[in-house]
Amino acid sequence: MISFEFSEEQKDFQRALARFAEKVLLPGYRDRASRTDYPFDIQRQLADLGVLGIGLPEKFGGTGAEDPIMLGLAAETLAYGDVNIASAPVQVGLVGSQLVYGSTAVQEEYLPRLIAGEITVAIALTEPGSGSDASALLTVAEPAPGGWRLRGEKTAISWACNAAAALVYAREPGSARSSGVSCFVVPLDATGVTVSHMLGMGCLPLGWGSIHLDEVFVPEEGLIGEHGQGFRSVMNHFDFSRAALGLMCLGAARASLDEAADYALQRETFGRPIAEYQGVSFLLAEQATYLEAARWLCYRALWLRHIGQPHTAHASMSKWWPPIVAKDAIEAAMKIHGNLGYATEFPLQQRFRDVMAYLVADGTAEIQKRIIAKDVLGRRRVK
Ligand SMILES: Cc1cc2nc3c(=O)[nH]c(=O)nc-3n(C[C@H](O)[C@H](O)[C@H](O)COP(=O)(O)OP(=O)(O)OC[C@H]3O[C@@H](n4cnc5c(N)ncnc54)[C@H](O)[C@@H]3O)c2cc1C
Repeated sequence: MISFEFSEEQKDFQRALARFAEKVLLPGYRDRASRTDYPFDIQRQLADLGVLGIGLPEKFGGTGAEDPIMLGLAAETLAYGDVNIASAPVQVGLVGSQLVYGSTAVQEEYLPRLIAGEITVAIALTEPGSGSDASALLTVAEPAPGGWRLRGEKTAISWACNAAAALVYAREPGSARSSGVSCFVVPLDATGVTVSHMLGMGCLPLGWGSIHLDEVFVPEEGLIGEHGQGFRSVMNHFDFSRAALGLMCLGAARASLDEAADYALQRETFGRPIAEYQGVSFLLAEQATYLEAARWLCYRALWLRHIGQPHTAHASMSKWWPPIVAKDAIEAAMKIHGNLGYATEFPLQQRFRDVMAYLVADGTAEIQKRIIAKDVLGRRRVK
């Protein structure tokens, strides 16, 4: 039996978040999005709504077992109001699910404050010379008495400028590719750390930046997971964050299409509402179709993870296509708004710029297609 129905618990959660997104987030979205400081007052409200602890240990304030569908619902529903804020549960989920493999001291230091919305933690994988080819990273973790000394440069890191710490991926000297890469938690006020702000065309409140590490000492307790297994671990976690990010983009697109539909009903040209012209209504119909298809692709990826089935290819499908669908839908909504679609007093152009980030962040379309192609071809080869 096939079912596309969410559970009563999921529907209640979605309704509560939808109210919050429309009443609290949407009215201030455009103003917040034009500033570079992250609104921690809203982060604490997210914590009160229970969205920051999804799938994280109950003893630290989380909901317990991993719950990818709830995470997807949170990202999609919050993005209707503010796509930047909506990335917070995904980030906390991604960071938290790695921190649980840290020492007790690290877990106690970071997880309760992350889940309570008091701090954020960045994920620092990309380097100036390695983005798509992430396992070519050069940052080194040199063994030192009582821990390691890290040196290297991380770039294009979301949350770098407002995070308390970063998960830094660094390699054992002399190792190559993914083997020998470990994950370390590095407080961003540690001696030897320099954070520099990078200005992007959107996502400003997320504090995008670079992190320079100059012989930064990380004690033994700062190692997350098994030594030398950091790369494999983060790739596994990307398998749920990718679908959640896809849904997040679609939530922002849905808000844009709703605004376009309202506008089309009231804007008149040649004596009739523009909604009566098929040039407008078919555009809405086409974008609504793409959104619906992309949405269920993402939920299928999350569901496969939930039931423990292979889902890496579906996660990649959910990461390359839905952000493009979302971008195109927002562009269509801008077009339907005529000159107002271009005006900064409306949120459409802001959503467009914010959603564009996810065509690159967390892996470009080409890299996702490499993963999907490996799966498609691999299945034919084993026949
Ligand atoms: C807004 C934003 C937020 C980000 N946040 C983070 C973060 O929090 N943490 C983090 O670690 N990183 C982050 N990144 C970095 C992001 O993950 C990388 O930018 C991304 O993986 C691409 O790497 P690159 O920029 O080095 O591009 P490159 O790897 O240099 O790629 C350049 C172009 O070549 C294409 N290309 C590369 N290899 C192939 C191939 N084999 N086949 C076909 N095409 C290929 C790519 O698709 C791309 O179009 C963020 C980026 C952005 C834009």
